[in-house]
Amino acid sequence: MATWHPFTQMQGFSPIGVVRSAQGAWVELEDGRRLFDGVASWWLNVHGHSHPALVSAVSRQMGAFAQVVLADLDHRPALDLTDGLAAALPGDLRHVFFSDDGSTAVEAGLKMAWQAQRARHGAGVRDRIVCFDGAYHGDTLGAMSVGARDVFTAPFHDLLREVVCVPWDDAEAAERVLAEQGDRVAAVITEPLVQGASGMRFQAPETLARVARATRDAGALLVVDEVMTGFGRLGTLFAVEQAGVVPDIVALSKGITGGTLPLGATVTTPAVYETFLSDRVEDGFLHGHSYTGNPLACAAGVASLGLFETERTLDNVATWAPVFEQAVAHWAADPRVARPRYRGGILAVDVVGGPGGYLDPIGRRVKSEALARDLHLRPLGPVAFLMPPLATPREEVAWAVERLVESVDAALGPRSTP
Ligand SMILES: *Cc1c(COP(=O)(O)O)cnc(C)c1O
Repeated sequence: MATWHPFTQMQGFSPIGVVRSAQGAWVELEDGRRLFDGVASWWLNVHGHSHPALVSAVSRQMGAFAQVVLADLDHRPALDLTDGLAAALPGDLRHVFFSDDGSTAVEAGLKMAWQAQRARHGAGVRDRIVCFDGAYHGDTLGAMSVGARDVFTAPFHDLLREVVCVPWDDAEAAERVLAEQGDRVAAVITEPLVQGASGMRFQAPETLARVARATRDAGALLVVDEVMTGFGRLGTLFAVEQAGVVPDIVALSKGITGGTLPLGATVTTPAVYETFLSDRVEDGFLHGHSYTGNPLACAAGVASLGLFETERTLDNVATWAPVFEQAVAHWAADPRVARPRYRGGILAVDVVGGPGGYLDPIGRRVKSEALARDLHLRPLGPVAFLMPPLATPREEVAWAVERLVESVDAALGPRSTP
């Protein structure tokens, strides 16, 4: 085996199987086995696998041209997706900078904020970045710098920049830090309403609204990482809508192509964009990637936005609520689990009693119990969660929820009577 898997100790590793095809929420392996995609193929699948509208949009674009440099030249898929994103995002977020994935969308956003503040105030004036405990913004060095210091980043701590870290979902703490050192802060970066990778940790919309207000009052820029939450995962097209917040910069990826092709986008306002306009080349945003604005990915993005309208995808997610509600009620009566919760298209529960953290072995037990029931999960340490493609019919989601509940039960072993 020479394919090196992400986030994986390869010693002793063997894959579940080799994928032959995928349809809707189901992945079929070469041995004929079918698995329910309980993690939406790493949190990104929206309309189900192999959706015919996305297949034909990408095929059509492939027949015209697959990739042409998006510098000097423009192309229709990038222009159309720019328009589509500007129309879908709140406020005056309309300048779209394309890249390749979530990490690069975040990196571009951080660099954009940093350079804009430098242009406004001079070098070294606003030299701090504020982020949140337990954050995850990607695996490149800049993105790791503004994320949690944990098992994933431990080997690289000497390479990471110092940042100001504020407790999650604590509006007062954020307001205090911004009141005290706000005039030194270039940017505040946050995941909106839920921290994904650190364990599906929810935040009250009011907290995000207060963080946004305090950031603005301090004259800092608010960078919101909607890489996971964007495109419907929390039941609205973007999470910030639920808090009435318009960021200065927003990072998008994952669901942007409906989960079909890699693409990142960093979107900002005219106020930020205009700080880069000058007679000097070096005042521009001198950043880019070779596949910037890939036409196939942009075509998928345009088609995916269309499907949100024609298939009323968000209405479908809303039908899952009673199913999730039932699981939460079941777990609320079980002392072996904690914080059963759901929001939009995410159902999660903490399996307590172990050491906690990403290496907590209970996660691997839940995963293997689920796999034995044809459900593919990737628990985050003790946090078991379900995150199906957003177009999955409610009956199939109900099936997956039942299997998840059984898997958590089975992983814990027989319940002891007090
Ligand atoms: C997945 C994720 C990223 C990183 O995206 P990649 O495409 O894996 O580089 C960044 N931020 C959040 C919130 C994510 O969930």
